[in-house]
Amino acid sequence: MLRFNQKPTAELQRIDADHHLHPFTDTKALNAEGTRVIVRAKGIWLEDSDGNRILDGMAGLWCVNVGYGRDEIGAAVERQMRELPYYNTFFKSTHVPAVELADKLADLAPPHINRVFFCGSGSEANDTVIRMVRHFWAAQGQPDRQVIIGRKNAYHGSTIGGTSLGGMAAMHGQGGLPIPGIHHIDQPYWFGEGGDMDPEEFGIARARELEKAIADIGADKVAAFIAEPIQGAGGVVIPPDSYWPEIGRICKAHDILLVADEVICGFGRLGTWFGSDYFSIEPDLMPVAKGLSSGYQPIGGVLVSDRVAEGLGEGGEFFHGYTYSAHPACCAAALENIRILEDEAILQHVSTVAAPYLKDKWMALADHPLIGESRMTGLMGALELVPNKPDRTRFPEVGKVGTLCRDHAFRNGLVMRAVGDTMVVAPPLVIDRNEIDQLAALAEKTLDDTLAALKADGLL
Ligand SMILES: *Cc1c(COP(=O)(O)O)cnc(C)c1O
Repeated sequence: MLRFNQKPTAELQRIDADHHLHPFTDTKALNAEGTRVIVRAKGIWLEDSDGNRILDGMAGLWCVNVGYGRDEIGAAVERQMRELPYYNTFFKSTHVPAVELADKLADLAPPHINRVFFCGSGSEANDTVIRMVRHFWAAQGQPDRQVIIGRKNAYHGSTIGGTSLGGMAAMHGQGGLPIPGIHHIDQPYWFGEGGDMDPEEFGIARARELEKAIADIGADKVAAFIAEPIQGAGGVVIPPDSYWPEIGRICKAHDILLVADEVICGFGRLGTWFGSDYFSIEPDLMPVAKGLSSGYQPIGGVLVSDRVAEGLGEGGEFFHGYTYSAHPACCAAALENIRILEDEAILQHVSTVAAPYLKDKWMALADHPLIGESRMTGLMGALELVPNKPDRTRFPEVGKVGTLCRDHAFRNGLVMRAVGDTMVVAPPLVIDRNEIDQLAALAEKTLDDTLAALKADGLL
């Protein structure tokens, strides 16, 4: 069925190749292969221009929490567009959706967090974090507290600031990043880097790297530590239970602001409103985006503790903001998205039905000859592909087998992403038992196909 005067697939692909530069893409390689054209979606299912149905195991890019096809969100946005399509919040003015969304977020956030600074994306939220924590300390009379400590293999966005806070070596390699004043410690990735330590011991060791970095840099020069509760883009790195309590202790002991990047974990992914609720983290700042609107409109924000908000208040004007901070139509989408999460008890569905059920099936995949570890918390899961289980040694050429596996997944009608040789999933939160059965069956078939292909090519 053609809609919106849809051109034939080959023509769309040709025009796309001629005029569209894709994010995080080797354009030349992509254009040789041709893009997949997604035309519509409903629930957890995508449909491409050739009529194939694909189970979206990644909720778009970790964001379509309430699933596709929610007409209510479209209607809320349309209502807002007719009423007030745009106004800024710079000129001593505000508007109804901004007020209502700020109020709602203060309600959902931990009790000591009652304010939000709006922006358009997760990257902008993290750029805001850099400027906010540095200005906060300057306003406290400690202008030397400028260094922000992040982690290797973290993802905090793709702007100059977000890339710098993040710890992706390949991203740093392009464009002379990170910016000065950002320091990275190692990640709590037990499967990849835990060596002979047991996971809990390793969690403590990796948290103590923060304490060592603070000592090396000087506590009077460190502004903040930033981390995702669970690293998403880095490969769904679920920290050992020992990790977060030790990080919390260290930040408190040295009076370092703790920033929990909730862009993926926020809004129900772990069955709680925030990843910080799940891990009992007490953050000073929480950047959010993605699930805030389930991706229906681009919106992000930084949720700010009373302490930081009051401290900033002593610093006079904060010279920061975006034209689209608190965009009315985006706020309307977020409000309607949160209403759906609440009215349909979607967090309870995640914590009591979907996450335990998927985890059962997911952990069973660890029996597969290609899988060295399977792990899942909430609706974020990973599978580690290895050549010689139970040995944790990786394939010699990192990413080759992961990419092969991802391509087989697509062919089987499943979006499962490859991070190196780690396969990750994060489906929409509304996924039901029957769909979880399908996801697990498709993942297993994909592993079988990948194994068969490796054997056929003599790689195993
Ligand atoms: C996606 C992501 C970001 C960046 O968000 P954008 O909206 O793509 O700018 C930041 N932090 C985390 C943890 C993310 O997953």
